[in-house]
Formats: sequence, C-alpha cells, structure tokens
Amino acid sequence: MLQPLASIPRSVGPNVVARLKVLAGLLTYRTDVPQEGRIQDAQLGFEVRVSTLPTLFGEKAVVRLFGGQSRVLRLAELGFAPSVAQRWSELVRETSGMLIITGPAGSGKTTTAYALMREIVEQSQGGRSAATLEDPVELALPGVSQTQANPMADFDLSGALKFLLRQDPEVIMVGEMRDAETARLAFQAAVTGHLVVSTFHAGSAAEAVSRLADMGIPPYMLRSGLLAIVSQRLLRRLCTCSLPAEQGALEGLPVQFARVAKGCDACLGTGYHGRVPVAELLEPAGEVGRAILSRTDADRVEALAIQAGMVPIWQQALARVEAGDTSPQEVVRVFGRTHLAVGS
Ligand SMILES: [Zn+2]
Repeated sequence: MLQPLASIPRSVGPNVVARLKVLAGLLTYRTDVPQEGRIQDAQLGFEVRVSTLPTLFGEKAVVRLFGGQSRVLRLAELGFAPSVAQRWSELVRETSGMLIITGPAGSGKTTTAYALMREIVEQSQGGRSAATLEDPVELALPGVSQTQANPMADFDLSGALKFLLRQDPEVIMVGEMRDAETARLAFQAAVTGHLVVSTFHAGSAAEAVSRLADMGIPPYMLRSGLLAIVSQRLLRRLCTCSLPAEQGALEGLPVQFARVAKGCDACLGTGYHGRVPVAELLEPAGEVGRAILSRTDADRVEALAIQAGMVPIWQQALARVEAGDTSPQEVVRVFGRTHLAVGS
C-alpha cells in the first residue's frame, strides 16, 4: 500500500533522481532510457536497487530496499496455517515432482519458494544436489548453486534450464515459469526424477492448473508431474491499536466477529503492522487428478479440490478476520467482493 510521505518540488526532483543514479552507478546523462543498478554500501548493511524510467515530466525512480530480511526464512516462520505448513514439510521429502507457488505479484511467492528450498537442503543434510535458476537472484541460499539468467545476453531461463538439466541436479528451483518453454522444461524435469520448485502467476490454485494446460503442458504431464500447487496472498496484519468492529463494519462477510483498523504512532496511523499469509493447497489426487486429465475447467477443479479437503483461501482469510489478525476491509481489498460472495 502506498503511503504518501512527502511531496518533492519539481525544481528539486531531478536532482534527487540524479543523485540516486550516481550512487547506483547509472549513466546520469541518459535520461531517455530505462536503467537499473545497485547501491552497494557496506555501511548501509543492506542492498538498495534503483531503477529509472523516462516519463512525461522527467524520470521516475523506484528504490527497492533489501534490508532486514537478508536471510532466507524457514517454512515454520512464514506463518502459514498448520494444515498447509504440515503438508509442505511432507512434500519437500519427495524425490520427484513439481511444487508450484502461485499468486499475484507481491504475494510472497519467492519468499515461500526460498523457504521450501532451505527446508529441502536442510532435511537432506547436504545429500541432495540443489540448484536454482532465477531472474534475478534475490537472496543467497546456503548449500545451493544459484544461477542468474540474463535474457539480454541470450541466456534466458529456458536456455539456462536446458544446460542445468545436463548437470543433473536432484532439486531445482526455477524462479518463475513465465513462458511456455520454461514451463514445459520444468515439467519435463519433474516427471524425470527431479524435485522442482517454481512460482507461477495465477489467481488461484485451480486457475494455475488450467493456465498451465493452456500454455501447452499436456494433461498427463500435469497430472503425473504435479505434487501440489499452493496459492497464496498476504494480508496486512492489524496493529495492536485495532478496535472491535461494529456490525456494519463487517463488509457483509460471513463472520461472527472482527476487529478493524484504527491507527496509532506505532503503525504510522495506518492501523496495520506487518503481514499474515493465507494459502490454499491443491493436490492432483483422486477426482481432482481425473478432472485435470480431462481438462475440466478451473471452477470444477476447485470444487472437486474443496470436496477432497482443500480449505479454500477465502475461508482461511475469513478465519484470519475472526481471529482478529486482519480486518474485513483488508480482506475485501485483497480478494474483491465477487470471489468472497461466491465463497460464502
Ligand atoms: Zn497502531
């Protein structure tokens, strides 16, 4: 969520951008092309990535801070519901197949993928050869060889994956399956004795299945290659200043109880502090697997998965509301009303 903090006068703005560009080692005299760089300063204690883009009234600069969380979290630290966390810790012991984390941008997919890799490496006590292909590498994973793809230099994810497979690692993380070729190679690896962890952009676990089929992954490969798909979202966690909600503040959600945001100094008046994940885990067993094989539509696959015991993500979000972890307003902001109405 954007928090407007200050407005910089137009006469000063270009100087701020120019200074950032100097620090990040970018070309200050080029204001007509996008640029990307890093500010590496040991005194900062964390990494700063700067990207610039020409806009109508001058350059726009975006600064990303890779601070604090410069270590890979453990699965148990991510705060998933016990049902999901428990299944994850069993699935990472598998020797082959595909684990997919899906969700929109900013839903914490990469953090979960890293946590899975850490779990896999630690459980095997160094006994499994593990590698990643990323674009870009975001964090260093102990015990894993990490490769950064570079599409500009004709070293894209799918090309890199072909090379990596010749080295025959046992566990592979593919940063994100963005194109059909990468997805096909990743599934090929998953059905030929590799444990593959990857992320994929989709709205729900069932939608991910149908989108992968649309990308050309044959149904038999989806059925036999897939171990599980987790769809996740991050909800803002209510600050300790939250208040019990009046009946009218429940946003029409089917909950008995809720708390709402207020705002204090500790949360900069936003009412929220930190985030909590919610997730659903779909496994292609039984009826769900048969539905995938016959290319059944996403809604039907989802319904079958729920019948088979999947706790849908919106239900977990409602549980978070009733537990006072987040507010009805936040759930509606993240999921929209339509999906929740269908859910209830
Ligand atoms: Zn507060």
